[in-house]
Amino acid sequence: MKKYFILIIILAFSINSFAQKKVNYAIVIHGGAGTILKKNMTPEKEKAYLQKLNEALDKGESILKAGGSSMDAVEATIHILENSPLFNAGKGSVFTEAGENEMDASIMDGKTLQAGAVAGVKTIKNPISAARLVMEKSKHVMMAREGAETFAKEQGLEIVNPSYFKSERRWKSYLRIKKRMENQEDKKNKKHGTVGCVALDKEGNIAAGTSTGGMTMKMWGRIGDSPIIGAGTYANNKTCGVSATGHGEFFIRNVVAYDISALMEYKGWSLKKAANYVIHQKLKPQGGEGGIVSLDHKGNIVMSFNSAGMYRGFRKSNGEKGVFIYGKETE
Ligand code: ASP
Repeated sequence: MKKYFILIIILAFSINSFAQKKVNYAIVIHGGAGTILKKNMTPEKEKAYLQKLNEALDKGESILKAGGSSMDAVEATIHILENSPLFNAGKGSVFTEAGENEMDASIMDGKTLQAGAVAGVKTIKNPISAARLVMEKSKHVMMAREGAETFAKEQGLEIVNPSYFKSERRWKSYLRIKKRMENQEDKKNKKHGTVGCVALDKEGNIAAGTSTGGMTMKMWGRIGDSPIIGAGTYANNKTCGVSATGHGEFFIRNVVAYDISALMEYKGWSLKKAANYVIHQKLKPQGGEGGIVSLDHKGNIVMSFNSAGMYRGFRKSNGEKGVFIYGKETE
């Protein structure tokens, strides 16, 4: 009798801890990867980045907690990052060679495999919303430049003067890099930015989104990986959701976001194994710097990067959370 009693207690405990551990929503974000070193950071700057990452996560988590969709959480979370001059997206976008801001964004719904993207836009305040509208209100997946801007305006999105995106800090860095390039000192520019978010909602649906100003000094008309479904963004309820940041050309050639999902789907790999393989074994030897944030349908989160740092953070319904900047903090 006593034996049964102990057995029941053990069983009750394990059911309880299983229920506690089960993740019914999760969210992960990034604010760009690159040569982000503690020695180049001031405590104030560090604090400002961590605060903004937390503010974005607060927003996304509040939507997911209330039973909102992963698509809504991704869009609203990215708005916070796009509206901050700290990150290379929306307000903080970097400059092209011609001294302009040209932005790319994409979003994908892992339930329906529907996706939307905009590329090379200069006047849409929140490109991630334009990407979502392309997905929901047009027959297409990707729209570019003036066409995308006209569409966004027709759909009622906020249109701003291109000067809105001109932040003092990015402009100064543009002038500095331009000067160095003219003096042949800086052929290789290692500054990445970009923001991204992947969320899992209580219904088990995964969504992923990415928004960027691209790479500093990019040529007029250059499009990176961020608006390309399968390269910078991918979501599939069967496998995972991924948002990437880094040297876009490498991410396009390696179809990074989809490759991670495909390794899970076809080889049965875990998200961690798939993501680390692509980022460290495939991209790194090629010189493809950058990283990804991702999650799977169980709410497992993987933030993998081969650069010195990546602004990143996550929250889960079971209370696990964190925000980080440098390497080795989460590995
Ligand atoms: N991947 C982006 C691009 O190549 C840049 C970045 O993530 O910083 O446009």
